[in-house]
Amino acid sequence: MTRMPFLDRRTLMAMMAKSGIGAGALTAWPLLAAPWPRNIVADPRFTDYPFALGVASGEPAPDGFVIWTRLCPRPAEQHYGMPRAPMVVNWEVAAEESFSVILAKGEALASPELGHSVHVEVGGLSPDRVWFYRFRIAGQVSPVGRSRTMPLPGVRLERLRFAVAGCQHYEHGHFTAWKHIAQEPVDFVFHYGDYIYETNEKGAQTLTIQGHDFPRARRHNNDEPYSLDDYRQRYAQYKTDPDLQAAHHAAPFWVSFDDHEVDNDWADRWDQDDTPPEVFLYRRAAAFQAYYEHMPLRRSSMPDGSRMKMHRNARYGDLVNAFVLDTRQFRSDQIGEAEKLQGGEKLAPMTPAAYDPARTMMGDAQEKWLFDGLADSTARWNLIAHQVMLMHLVGRGKGGAKGYNMDRWSGYMHSRRRLLSHIDKACPGNVVTVSGDAHRHYAGDVLQDEGAPGSKAGKIITSEFLGTSVSSGDDGMGELNTPQQLADNPALKATIDRRGYVLCDVGREVWHADLKVIDKVSAPGGKLSTYASFAVERGDPGVKKG
Ligand code: FE
Ligand code: CA
Repeated sequence: MTRMPFLDRRTLMAMMAKSGIGAGALTAWPLLAAPWPRNIVADPRFTDYPFALGVASGEPAPDGFVIWTRLCPRPAEQHYGMPRAPMVVNWEVAAEESFSVILAKGEALASPELGHSVHVEVGGLSPDRVWFYRFRIAGQVSPVGRSRTMPLPGVRLERLRFAVAGCQHYEHGHFTAWKHIAQEPVDFVFHYGDYIYETNEKGAQTLTIQGHDFPRARRHNNDEPYSLDDYRQRYAQYKTDPDLQAAHHAAPFWVSFDDHEVDNDWADRWDQDDTPPEVFLYRRAAAFQAYYEHMPLRRSSMPDGSRMKMHRNARYGDLVNAFVLDTRQFRSDQIGEAEKLQGGEKLAPMTPAAYDPARTMMGDAQEKWLFDGLADSTARWNLIAHQVMLMHLVGRGKGGAKGYNMDRWSGYMHSRRRLLSHIDKACPGNVVTVSGDAHRHYAGDVLQDEGAPGSKAGKIITSEFLGTSVSSGDDGMGELNTPQQLADNPALKATIDRRGYVLCDVGREVWHADLKVIDKVSAPGGKLSTYASFAVERGDPGVKKG
């Protein structure tokens, strides 16, 4: 028998009693789901460091969080330097970085079926404090991650700080924004998606962005992903980035996906190439599995084929009730996609089709979940954390023609109306939204549109802080198009084309947000500054300078 000895339930309980922790402190799965598989590698040996992708934590709760790693000693190779068999990884949680007292520990399975990823749902910890975690296997120790439990729901909380970031194209620039986020004193990070980019413009040494050529900072090491192995390799390459690892090591994440985790501008069962939906769903399933394998997600988000539950709620004391949305998986297909593809144009004229009540951004079930959650919320603030722009901004296409981006809420005007009417009715004045995808910072008021029933047109319903990208769009064009965009859109208060992130600092009366920018990402060492600072006062929706 090559079987590895595993902890049976009795040994486990004895161990827990000795260490003074309750049964809830150790994850119920897979630890208690003994026995381990028969083909387990009893005595693993690694020639390369198995924790090359670092560690991560996420999905915080008052009593714990998910801790993640993936055994991946050779990230660029097809089988990533791992045997085709499962292994057991040890994990530890402590209150001090020195790990002098280990307060929770256990074993978890790294299976080839899941790319040797490890997801542990740690529980039984005390609320509202910092924790440290690490993994071990075969004498190798992972980097130490820092995480944080939430305060108990309803408990008075004075302050909450978080970063909003995403859109990290590996070829467009260095992840300097993540290096800076790692140094911010945040309680969590919200990732609005585009964690990877599936695109591959083979051979081209320069990028053409808005008519300007930029040399590529780095290169993807595989072709456009379709299979699970392809996506795994893409994630592994991104995950080797030290700045991205530093951010994950510093704070828990609430992650969400947008389009590029699967394919540019996908919507529900439809991709941008008119692939038959039943065929595209196989690609979506592969992409979802690879996404799950690389994110600190709970088992409740483990994909079931091409479906994955990603909308979820997080309550930070009595201060912030956060709703993380999924605006890709259940949305109606984009309007005018064929025209867009023909002209290479992102913008389209507004059309009555966008107001079709049958068109949806979230799907009926998610919309009901959000609306019920907002109606029941007693928090000082509600946060809607989503992926694409909620402000209805007019843009300029080729030759200065005005148009709207149909991949954003502007292509789903009836959904947008319903959401804004509901906010106006259920929790007026205490909702703030954050999003991304646009590869520029945008801060502004979110207004109800003309003709919407229930609340009058032009009324400011909520505010939006749309984070620019970590690297997508290279160094950017700065304020080149800023005056035109501000002139065209009175609701818009600031915009700039630079890389960076949004930093939110939420108090009981005022919600502060800083638009952080980095002067360049085409080379490492870009300098960080604050482009603009805003405040939202509770009870008075809309952004003010400050
Ligand atoms: Fe993006
Ligand atoms: Ca996107």
